[in-house]
Amino acid sequence: MSSLLEVKDLKKYFPISGGLLKRAVGQVKAVDGISFEVGIGETLGLVGESGCGKSTTGRMIARVMEPTGGNIKFDGIDISKLKGKKLKEIRSNLQMVFQDPYASLNPKMAIQSIIAEPLEVNGIAKGKELIHRVNELLETVGLRPEDRQKYPHEFSGGQRQRIGIARSLALNPKLIVADEVVSALDVSVQSQILNLMVELKKKRQLSYIFISHNLSVIRHISDRVGVMYLGNLVEIAGKKDFFNNALHPYSQALLSAAPEPTRNSGRERILLQGEVPSPANPPKGCPFHTRCPLAMKICSQEKPIMKEREPSHFVACHLYN
Ligand code: SF4
Ligand code: MG
Repeated sequence: MSSLLEVKDLKKYFPISGGLLKRAVGQVKAVDGISFEVGIGETLGLVGESGCGKSTTGRMIARVMEPTGGNIKFDGIDISKLKGKKLKEIRSNLQMVFQDPYASLNPKMAIQSIIAEPLEVNGIAKGKELIHRVNELLETVGLRPEDRQKYPHEFSGGQRQRIGIARSLALNPKLIVADEVVSALDVSVQSQILNLMVELKKKRQLSYIFISHNLSVIRHISDRVGVMYLGNLVEIAGKKDFFNNALHPYSQALLSAAPEPTRNSGRERILLQGEVPSPANPPKGCPFHTRCPLAMKICSQEKPIMKEREPSHFVACHLYN
């Protein structure tokens, strides 16, 4: 599969200021040097507990946030430092859909204006052509063109997420970063939205970075799965390899804690000790060593690097050295 996106050593550090003078007293390492690729027409699921850096990663890739370091090569161009007009151009190919469609849709705008906005702003369509495009987009996501003059509050949560998706499709993007897009929805509505996204991906050769803390959602939608912990990517593998044969102790613990049928039957539940350390003061060595049931001496001294342990199955853990 040829890659659409190549991320190398991506970092986001936020300064922490303190005292009366608000001097920088430290930094939060929200994302601490991660690398991965996403192919054309591929869905990479990013999973991990809240605060692990998934959303920050998604925001940097959609370039609504500037990275502190590293490269984001999209369609052959390094977009990590783009600004102004160049950034605007590339953004039409890179869209983001958020968890709460109600918060991301302007309540005072009819949905036709919401969906038309990116087309108007970019001077792509106006007048009758614009209405025609809006109708097409509504049909694409399973909504009725007749409803285009209604307002967001007149739709259900699932319908609102369809509106958010229609809007993200308006500029014909190549990659969509979807951040917890079904987390606020009932389970039955969740699978309708996931099925819609799978169908759109096939029809339009879309790629997704699909961010979720929910392993059954990740299993439904992903081609490959990446696991994040404390700003680091600790494992990345094809969906089957990940769900049948996760190698990283943190991935194994996540899987063991998931409800059936996401969990493999026969997998014993691994209970993790302690809390996730603060990203302002991450542990030396392996970021997971303070909670890992299999930690060895080297784990608190050296940070393990991501290596391919099985074909297309990467893991950062000293156990496999
Ligand atoms: Fe556990 Fe060590 Fe592997 Fe980290 S490197 S996950 S502490 S065994
Ligand atoms: Mg998040």
